[in-house]
Amino acid sequence: MTLQESVPLNASDMPLSTAGAQVLKNGLSSSPSDIDPSQLTITLATALKQLPDPETLVFGEVMTDHMLYMDFAPERGWSSPQIKPYGPLSLDPACSCFQYCPSVFEGMKAYLGPDGTPRLFRPQLNMERMARSAERVALPPFDADTLLILIRRLVAIEARWIPRARGCSLYIRPTLIGTRPSLGVSASTQAALYVILSPTGPYIRDLNGKGLSLLAMSDQIRAWPGGTGGFKLGLNYAAGFPAQRVAAALGYQQMLWILGETVAEAGAMNVFAVFERPDGELDVVTPPLDGTILPGVTRASVLALLSYQPPTAALPQLSAHARIRTAERALTMSELFAASATGTLREVFCVGTAAVVIPVTRIGWRRPPPGAKNGSEPEVVDIVLPAAGEQGSLAQALWQRLVDIQEGRVEWEGWGVTCGTPDA
Ligand SMILES: *Cc1c(COP(=O)(O)O)cnc(C)c1O
Repeated sequence: MTLQESVPLNASDMPLSTAGAQVLKNGLSSSPSDIDPSQLTITLATALKQLPDPETLVFGEVMTDHMLYMDFAPERGWSSPQIKPYGPLSLDPACSCFQYCPSVFEGMKAYLGPDGTPRLFRPQLNMERMARSAERVALPPFDADTLLILIRRLVAIEARWIPRARGCSLYIRPTLIGTRPSLGVSASTQAALYVILSPTGPYIRDLNGKGLSLLAMSDQIRAWPGGTGGFKLGLNYAAGFPAQRVAAALGYQQMLWILGETVAEAGAMNVFAVFERPDGELDVVTPPLDGTILPGVTRASVLALLSYQPPTAALPQLSAHARIRTAERALTMSELFAASATGTLREVFCVGTAAVVIPVTRIGWRRPPPGAKNGSEPEVVDIVLPAAGEQGSLAQALWQRLVDIQEGRVEWEGWGVTCGTPDA
């Protein structure tokens, strides 16, 4: 079914985001609001695409043969899910997603296990986060577990697209958009939910000695208290693109987002800093989930691995004497610069689904010179982290362990979820 065929409705009569829930409360016998996986229809593409060379993959440019699609109308709830050939959507130009941006996405990956079975990494966390994001922009609710069943089915059908080379994977992009065809400035009572897949190479092929340069600018803000930074919403990203260009023009690879001088995130990744105490114990610090920080699945996994006792059980690359204390607390630029000057800043690294873990080698801070008059030209001061990502670093140990778990060489706490066979 295309969106144009979905039942028109008098949207102004509908209550806001609770439209789907209202249908349920009105006591219809079968819950029309739920996605029903037993109604799944599968239409396979007649001609399959040629697989790209994994060596030349550019992130997000090649899509697989099929997609998962369903849509929501208040009076019937979710349509029957469809797996069908990948192709354009047909949408009314007035759809709210084009105007007011009720648009939610997720990013996760499928990996091939040693036995050739596709595997996902803690996908329940992505589904729950997507449900929270939907609620934040008043899009219809959906059952997270049911959506995961359908995504596993899609991945199983598309398994030939998962590159076999180490560090390669199939990127999964679930998307939920408001499709109410009205310029009225209110919640979208109609929605489309689709999942597309794109094969991807490793963010970098070899961690050793490589890392990111980050630029912090006090006049560029990604997220603020009470805002939407803690949700994966399309509206959080476009406004950061100009800052990204400034960073690139000054020779840095990513933005280090700060609020005042408090560190938030880097690009679309969470940030960790490692400080060494005089007795050798390591303090691993990441900003707390105060609403301005995206609650990353990789962030949560890194915190879990670092907090495990004994540490070498979770991170076998660490020395048996390693002592680690994790803290979710505010991290400031002054603190980073001071620790760099005294030699106690051991590592800074970024984490996220795309890169897994990537060390930071240089941080620039662009701000007016201290004591300068208002309006004076900002200057950039740098700190350099020469040992970033070396053997024995936390970044290296975490990257190795996470990739081993994701690719199914190590089973860990039920984090790996398999996708079964195409017709199961
Ligand atoms: C997606 C994202 C992350 C990383 O989250 P993961 O679940 O680890 O991939 C971090 N910050 C931002 C802003 C993001 O969009």
